[in-house]
Amino acid sequence: MDAQAGMLARLFEHSMGLGEEWRVEDVRFESPASGDEELHIRVGRVPGAAVACPECGARCGACDARERTWRHLDIWQFRTVVHCRVPRADCPEHGPRTVRMPWEVRPNSHCTALFEARVLVMAMSGATVTGIARRKARACGRAF
Ligand SMILES: [Zn+2]
Repeated sequence: MDAQAGMLARLFEHSMGLGEEWRVEDVRFESPASGDEELHIRVGRVPGAAVACPECGARCGACDARERTWRHLDIWQFRTVVHCRVPRADCPEHGPRTVRMPWEVRPNSHCTALFEARVLVMAMSGATVTGIARRKARACGRAF
C-alpha cells in the first residue's frame, strides 16, 4: 500500500470504528467495464487477535472464515464496497458463530451502518418506499 492508500486506510479505520483486532489491508480503485470507477476496501483481522462471540461477547479464537462484501456509503462520489473474510468465533459455550463486524447494524445485512443510515434519512425526508428501493438497488448494482 502506498502512502496515499495508507492515509485513506487510516481514515477508513476511524470512520468504520474498527477496533484493535481489525485493520484495513488494501484500498484500491477498480474500473468495471460497465460503469464508473469504484473504491474497494479490504478489511482483515489482525493475525492472532481474539474475536467476540456474538452470543455472549466472550473473547475467542477463530475457527474459519468466509468472504463477504458490503455496500458502503459513497466516498468522494465513488461507489464504495467493503470486503472482508469474516471469521467465526470458536466459543466454548456456543460453538462456532459468525462474528459481527463493527460496521454492521443487523446480522447478515449487505450494507454498512452508514449506508443504512442514508436510507433511513431518505425515508424520513418523505421519499417513497419504491423510490428508496430503486436507489438502493441501483447503488448495490442490482436490478429493481
Ligand atoms: Zn459465546
